[in-house]
Amino acid sequence: MTPHPRKLLTACVLLWLISAAGAVAADPAAPIEVRVDATNEAQQVLQVSERIPATAGPMRLLFPRWLPGFHGPYGDVSQIAGLEVRAAGQRLPWRRDPLDPHAFLIDVPVNVPKVDLSFQSVRAPESQPYRAPWATQLLGLQWHAAVQYPAGRPVAEIQVQPSIRLPAGWQQGWALRVRAERDGWLAFEPVSLETLVDSPVYAGRNYRRLELDPPGTAQPVVLHLFGDPPERLQPSEAQIVAHRALVRQATMLFGARPWRHYDLLLATGEGMHRTALEHRESSENVYTTDYFKDWASASRDRDTVAHDFAHAWNGKFRRPADLLASDFNTPTQNSLLWVYEGLTQYYGMVLAARAGLVSPEQIRHRIGRSAAHLRELPGRRWRNLQDTTNDPAIASSAWPSWEDAQPGLLLRIGAADLARCRHADPPGHRWLAVAGRLCTPALCRRQRRAKPFDLCLRGRGVRTLCHPPARLAGFPARASGPHWAAGEP
Ligand SMILES: [Zn+2]
Repeated sequence: MTPHPRKLLTACVLLWLISAAGAVAADPAAPIEVRVDATNEAQQVLQVSERIPATAGPMRLLFPRWLPGFHGPYGDVSQIAGLEVRAAGQRLPWRRDPLDPHAFLIDVPVNVPKVDLSFQSVRAPESQPYRAPWATQLLGLQWHAAVQYPAGRPVAEIQVQPSIRLPAGWQQGWALRVRAERDGWLAFEPVSLETLVDSPVYAGRNYRRLELDPPGTAQPVVLHLFGDPPERLQPSEAQIVAHRALVRQATMLFGARPWRHYDLLLATGEGMHRTALEHRESSENVYTTDYFKDWASASRDRDTVAHDFAHAWNGKFRRPADLLASDFNTPTQNSLLWVYEGLTQYYGMVLAARAGLVSPEQIRHRIGRSAAHLRELPGRRWRNLQDTTNDPAIASSAWPSWEDAQPGLLLRIGAADLARCRHADPPGHRWLAVAGRLCTPALCRRQRRAKPFDLCLRGRGVRTLCHPPARLAGFPARASGPHWAAGEP
């Protein structure tokens, strides 16, 4: 039997009214509250609580998988344990998406504007090449391992209110800013989820802070040192001067600072996991060597510091278009990884040498060794150079055997030579610095997102990568010392 159309319409309207009256709509602009209790130092387990705005119906929660700076699917959902979801105090069943283990599915009942998550984030397995440091006396928290988020919105538009509790007596360094401190909890200023995942928290029992800019500098750079034992936090005056020179040289090279403030996080100690990871307003540098005491033998660590510092411009302020996804679970591509990493490798070496962090001879030796290494690799006989940019996505459980940065570095040097021969004109760093000069603090705040770029190697597009001071022959120490001054070739 077919119901009368008018009766059917009346029934639908009534159902809608009943449903609307009973529903409590979530505020889409309301921030996700994330609380991380990091006091379980002995077991190295983070206890995470989240309160996420929700609306009635199916909800899909994502654990970050494709992570900026990692260039591949390195988010590891096996770090999650003890997941519980509650709504209005009642436990909700969840199930994992069988087609995507990083997604959790729940049904949100009506009258529930928020759901509560709790879970433990355990230490990443030893096999993880980009494992965050969790060691005696040191915590390096990368937020992607301690957050889940609702699918369907860009992470740049999801606001988060993070807070953390640290072991008693620990001190911290980070790019986030503290809004309040209460009952042992530090509450940070709200940020987007994109910024949160790009803002690691480092804390430890032994800590030292060094300003790398003159007092009163706008958008300053600070060096945060963590060490175990504390004797490792004793740089000489010359070593401090070299780190200050790195900041000065990079500013001269790129023209402007695309951050509000920059926090260079550096930890050194046995038992730590070597970590080097770039962020927009900070970088992670964790070394097992005695960074300052082993100054003569561990020079590679220092051009890595310069490398990740240069990433603030190349990679963070400007990023290859297909490496900039709207969320952390959309696969990214690495078609321009040779620019992202190769050009940065080049800048890192140039800047480290100019600052006096390493000697020109050490840099030349490293470049020569890379060239020799690549020349002998059998991979070059069966795969093209572009295919090496896929390595991080392919080898997500192991360090890529054919390092993506090195071919890019050598290509960059070749591009510089090509440019010098054909074009004496435009500074190549204009590509990064012109935009950088536009980034006044006010504009920087409005344009927090990285800007995508795209390049084409066809024809003479390679010229886009040139910049004049970066001559390979320009490395030798000058009579006046290893530091370059503004305007010098
Ligand atoms: Zn890099």
